[in-house]
Amino acid sequence: MQKSKCLILIVAIGLVLNVVIAQLTYQQIKQHLADKVSLDVNQLGQKLDAQLMRYSKLPEVLANDPRLLQPLLTDQASSANTDNQYLKTSLLLQQWATTLGADTIYLINQHGKTLAASNWQQTGSFVGQNYAYRPYFRDAIEGKPGQYFALGASSDKRGYYFSAPIFNQQSIIGVMTIKVDLSLIEDIWQYEDIEYTIADSVGVVFYSSENSWLYRSLIPLDDKQKQQVLASRQYGNAKLDPLTDYSQLDDLKHRETIDIKLPAQNDTEAFVVANHNMTQAGWSIYGFSPINAAYQYVIQAVLMFTVFYSLLGLAVASWWQTLKAQKALAQLNDRLELLVVKRTNNLQESNQQLRDTLGQYERSQAELKQTQSELVQAAKLAMLGELSASINHEINQPLAAMRTYAENSRKLLKKERYECVATNVDEIIKLNQMVADIIARFKVFARKANENNNRTVAADSIRSATSLLRNKLIKEGVILRVGDLPSDILINVDAVQIEQVIVNLMHNAIQALATAHQPQIGIQLAALDNLVEIRIWDNGPGLDDDQKKRIFMPFFTTKSDGLGLGLTISRRIIDSFSGTLSVADHSGGGAEFVITLPRSTEDTQ
Ligand code: ADP
Repeated sequence: MQKSKCLILIVAIGLVLNVVIAQLTYQQIKQHLADKVSLDVNQLGQKLDAQLMRYSKLPEVLANDPRLLQPLLTDQASSANTDNQYLKTSLLLQQWATTLGADTIYLINQHGKTLAASNWQQTGSFVGQNYAYRPYFRDAIEGKPGQYFALGASSDKRGYYFSAPIFNQQSIIGVMTIKVDLSLIEDIWQYEDIEYTIADSVGVVFYSSENSWLYRSLIPLDDKQKQQVLASRQYGNAKLDPLTDYSQLDDLKHRETIDIKLPAQNDTEAFVVANHNMTQAGWSIYGFSPINAAYQYVIQAVLMFTVFYSLLGLAVASWWQTLKAQKALAQLNDRLELLVVKRTNNLQESNQQLRDTLGQYERSQAELKQTQSELVQAAKLAMLGELSASINHEINQPLAAMRTYAENSRKLLKKERYECVATNVDEIIKLNQMVADIIARFKVFARKANENNNRTVAADSIRSATSLLRNKLIKEGVILRVGDLPSDILINVDAVQIEQVIVNLMHNAIQALATAHQPQIGIQLAALDNLVEIRIWDNGPGLDDDQKKRIFMPFFTTKSDGLGLGLTISRRIIDSFSGTLSVADHSGGGAEFVITLPRSTEDTQ
């Protein structure tokens, strides 16, 4: 909306400026044409004046030549020898005409008859013609120098006539006349784009660059004026039709433009006009320049301005667009910068948060690790608590036996039965060894894993674990079925940790078998290519599918006093030695836990 309003305003301004420019151009061109026509017409007038001036005094000078008196006087006397006189005079006049560049020079007697003429030899010679009716003759015969423009009565050629009286002792006896051919004007006039006319005092055009204007009047003549012109036969029988409708010649002189009829085209055209008065001859020279030329310039100026204005408009529009685009770009940049700053801040915040989270994560990891190792230890200790009773029991028996052997030995010493004492001491040593073994096993279980010694005989670990639980098994009435335990099967695990796993699995099995009929636990060891497989099964209630999925998760327990960590820790231990721990249904009912571990390929040490 705003844009179209702007466009309309620009076009409106352009149109107004165009009108102003058209007007100014028209005025300028018109003025220029007027100046040019005026200048040209004045130049022509001055040249023509100069030309005519050259001839105006000549008749008077020539009239004083005494050789002219003779023929005139002879004519008056009507002597017989006239022809010879006239011929001599004609030859003289011919010589003068050639010298002066005049069209014709002729001698007229006081009655108007031409006695001698420079064109005496030519057809249409003036000799013998009577010009008494010509104004220039009448003026001269009255004693005044005469000037006159007319069509030649016999030659039909346009000419300007200068005359002067010829005196003989104070009385006029003849007239000396020079006719000048005005075709010289055509030589002077060289302005093709300007028409000119030369009109007499009443406005009849007797010379014009436009042929169709010849012998027409510049303004309408009244009947009296027409009659006078026709009577003088100045312009033959011309009709003297008017070229304009103005009433006075002054109207033509004071107007900037005038409408002139174009008889050839039967039309009217407007011209810029200028005139020059030739006061001596009584003529006016008019120059006419068609105003159409100004219109062409106006059209050119309007076109040029339109092109310029359009280009200027385009340049301004493109500049404006560029400015707008630059502004939009700057705004976009600002927004982008703001966005970047915001995003950077966000990113920095996120980064900080990430660092914090990472720190928290690392701390949690460390805490988790700590908790894990504490939990492992706690689980071990819990198991140890449970085992302590059977260990106590196991130790108490040999201790009691040792005490009995020692008391017996004391009695036997008193009786000096040294052999029997020695046997008793041997038994005590054996029992001591037995207690040491039990404690050693207990110690092994209680200590932390040894990371440097990862080569273990699988059978040893199984034996160790079963022996730890022997009392509990007996107490619970569980039958232990252990398969072959080849001692050449080595596994890359820590002995303490694998023992802990086996104890844990067996302990769970014992607990599961609490209400079982004829409870049994089986252990099988097998080597399959590079893998070692330890299966621990029982004939307890077993596990449903949901339990099987969840038992390795931390804190999953079905026991009122359970921690739910035993299996989780066991799987972690086996995983850490690149093995697997899984559960399945045992074929005879109950659960079966399967440990697989990579077999150690190195020789037994
Ligand atoms: P806890 O012994 O403290 O419950 P565990 O992780 O060792 O923790 O055992 C998780 C659960 O797995 C036990 O509570 C028990 O329900 C089940 N479970 C483990 N071993 C057996 C098994 N041999 N027979 C049946 N259920 C078992």
